[in-house]
Order: sequence, then C-alpha cells, then structure tokens
Amino acid sequence: MTQQCSLCNSESVIPLKFSKSTGKRKNRTFMRCQNCDLIFVPESFHLAPEEESARYRLHDNTLLNEGYVGMFLEKISLIHKYCLGINSVLDYGCGPEPVLSELMKKGGFGCDFYDPYFFPAFPECSYDLVISTEVFEHFRDVRAEISKIIQLLNPGGFLAIMTSFHDPIVDFESWWYLGDPTHICFFSMRTFEWVSKQFGFKIVYTNRKNFIILQALQVNLI
Ligand SMILES: [Zn+2]
Repeated sequence: MTQQCSLCNSESVIPLKFSKSTGKRKNRTFMRCQNCDLIFVPESFHLAPEEESARYRLHDNTLLNEGYVGMFLEKISLIHKYCLGINSVLDYGCGPEPVLSELMKKGGFGCDFYDPYFFPAFPECSYDLVISTEVFEHFRDVRAEISKIIQLLNPGGFLAIMTSFHDPIVDFESWWYLGDPTHICFFSMRTFEWVSKQFGFKIVYTNRKNFIILQALQVNLI
C-alpha cells in the first residue's frame, strides 16, 4: 500500500533512517513528508484507543503540578499579548483534567473544553480562540482534526498550538518526545507555514520551538 502524508496527502514520503537499532523509537517507523515536512508514525504502530486513553490518565497534569501550571501561565500571557479582543475560548483536547480552562477563567477568559476521550460532547458553538496544548502530536488524522478546529473558529479567530517542533532537534532519534508511544506526528515551521497557506491562516506569533498562534483570515476547508 502506498503511504500518504496524513496532513497534505502527498505520496512523497520517505522513512527516516536511524543509526541506533531502537532507543526512544521503540521500533516504530517514522515517515517524513517531503511536501509539508510533517514527520508521522504509520497507522500500524498506533496504540489502540483504550491503551491511548489509559496513558493519558497517568499524566500528572493537575493544578497541583507547578511546572505544568507555569507552562500554561506563560502561554496565557502570550495570548493576552497577541490575541486581542477575544471573548470566547475552547481548550481542544484538554485531557482528563481541564487545567487550562480553570487557569483561563482565572485570567478573565470564559473557557469551554473538549476532549474526545474524557469530555466527548463536541462543541456546538464557535470561538474567538481555540487553544490546543500537547495535543497535535497525538492526531491520527491531522488534516481532519485541523478541519474540525477551523469550523469551531469565528471569523478572524485564533488557533494557539503547543507541540514540540522537530526542526530545531539536531539528534531526532534521541529526542525525548519520541519516547511516548502516543506521540505520532511532529510538526516543523515549514509544516505550519504549509498549514497556514492551505487553510487560510496568518502566523501572528511563534517561538519556533513549541508554540505558535495562527489567525484565521478566511476559512479554507481542504
Ligand atoms: Zn505532507
């Protein structure tokens, strides 16, 4: 079967070559798309949904985890700076504890939350900001998920994404991010530039490492 990129559908994908026999990769294969620069793990290596949700329950992502909360507060301050005029916010893929939603409320933003495993009622309204932290690396169908998010955005709305970018990583095969078997796709600046162009976003902020804010200029469902 021909392998296709799960974002741009290109068949121009090549397996990454590694010098070590296993390490962090746990014998998984990684494909790199030459068109949009997404690196993804083929479906045959994906965990079953019940295994995946069991792993998410093990994460120590609560309001008591200072490192986790600090990481969110830093992102919320960037949102205050770059996303002006927002009134409604959705945390897309909040996990078992909607920590970000609580922090956003404390910061003066009303915030709904959605998670396919833990809060599966899909939102029926649209938002000025959709924020997705440590979620994009778990997408099985990247293109479909971005299309779903776009339909949740108001015109001119913002999409803030936190995920670790692969392009600053010099030694990809030793990267800690690969050690989690639920991490199945990895974005670069070039991937987000492709997403912006194809789906009709403008990049309004990025640290080029693990956080990017896009603004919907027009809705392009592809
Ligand atoms: Zn691609």
